Amino acid sequence: MGKSMEFWDPIETMDRREFERLQLKRLNKTIEFSVKNSRYYKDNIPQGLRNLNSLEDISKLPMMDKDDIRKDQESKPFLGEMLCVPEDDVVYISTSSGSTGMPTASPFTKKDFDVWIDYEARQFYSSGLRKSDRYCHALNLSLFVGGPCVLGAQRIGALSIHAGTMPSERLIKVIEHFRPNFIWTTPSYAWYLGETADKMGFDPAASSIKNIFVAGEPGGSIENTRKRIENLWDAKVFDYYGISDIFGSCAGECVDQNGLHVAEDHMIVEVVDTKTGEHVSEGEKGEMLLTTINKWARPLIRFRTGDIVTYETERCSCGRTSMRLMGIHGRIDDMLIIKGVNVMPSAIEAIIRSHPSLTGEYRIIVDREDHLDRVVVETEHTKKFAGNLSNLEEELKNEIRSKLGISTKVVIYDEETLPRATHKAKRLIDNRKDVWK
Ligand SMILES: [Zn+2]
Repeated sequence: MGKSMEFWDPIETMDRREFERLQLKRLNKTIEFSVKNSRYYKDNIPQGLRNLNSLEDISKLPMMDKDDIRKDQESKPFLGEMLCVPEDDVVYISTSSGSTGMPTASPFTKKDFDVWIDYEARQFYSSGLRKSDRYCHALNLSLFVGGPCVLGAQRIGALSIHAGTMPSERLIKVIEHFRPNFIWTTPSYAWYLGETADKMGFDPAASSIKNIFVAGEPGGSIENTRKRIENLWDAKVFDYYGISDIFGSCAGECVDQNGLHVAEDHMIVEVVDTKTGEHVSEGEKGEMLLTTINKWARPLIRFRTGDIVTYETERCSCGRTSMRLMGIHGRIDDMLIIKGVNVMPSAIEAIIRSHPSLTGEYRIIVDREDHLDRVVVETEHTKKFAGNLSNLEEELKNEIRSKLGISTKVVIYDEETLPRATHKAKRLIDNRKDVWK
């Protein structure tokens, strides 16, 4: 049986119909609470939609996005009119990472924080973390919502190393000395760290690390990226998903690794067509909307995450009944429209990382010349590569054309020409103006 059928919380295996009744109850409570305690929601939620009869009716409520939060907090600093509790009851804030403009704050009450950490423990437990393990938390600890997730590992009783984002050489020493068997980083960083370790004469595959949690980028959902990180470290990679406006990790893979189980007792997931806003079917790609149903400092209702996902609701082989995200395919903002064809950079990444002659590093540069989109894909060959470079460039170009339907120019450099990513990689450079408007 192993770790597959062990659960942190009985709610994880609750019958789906019963679960949906719980969600509806919590949704109505959230709406009632928000309208009563926040000017913003009072103004935005119509009278007739304040007590819903079914979960499907959620689609009648208005959507909101990051910009709404930013405007709200700018007009009424610093927590805005979405705040539903007295400021005195807020015990923790995280801020959004890496976005442009003013950082927005996500507030938590003491209870919000406590149930969140219990959820993090549940997720870590589902990925196999136990009291006897050692866990290294190598995510930013400063104002970043991924920071406190480490307390979830501590709640399980695992020895928890609050490493944060220390210099890589030092982190490798920490791994060497304290011998954690679990670590959490971004996928780019897991790769970079492995390469750095190698250069320091420390073989990552021979290290104590056997399980790597990754989040923050699509990498963990891209088969070829995952495999290369797994080979580099001789470890298993588990994909996690988090969002700064809600809480750290909201979904993650169990030991059976059939997609990312969502914390559905904390949030309702909708997946919609980006153009029409209509719900898409299971297996189809769409933008994920999240509605919090167990976070009270600042509930979010139909929040547009900007993340493109697919989902399934069938019970997982591990016994858990929650909806699973079957892939985080990237951000809407990163979706390229090349001569009318939609292309996710993650699809180009998948092709590049299937080639053993390439290092896996890449950059996509888009320009518009004479009203035409031109895409240059830059990558690198490995030191061992001894073949004909222009043939390889041609091969890659043809593969991208046949799989994605776009023509590109492919340039292959020597190993270590392209800049190395540390935390969140900037691999897409779009020099066209106003293409997203
Ligand atoms: Zn599962």
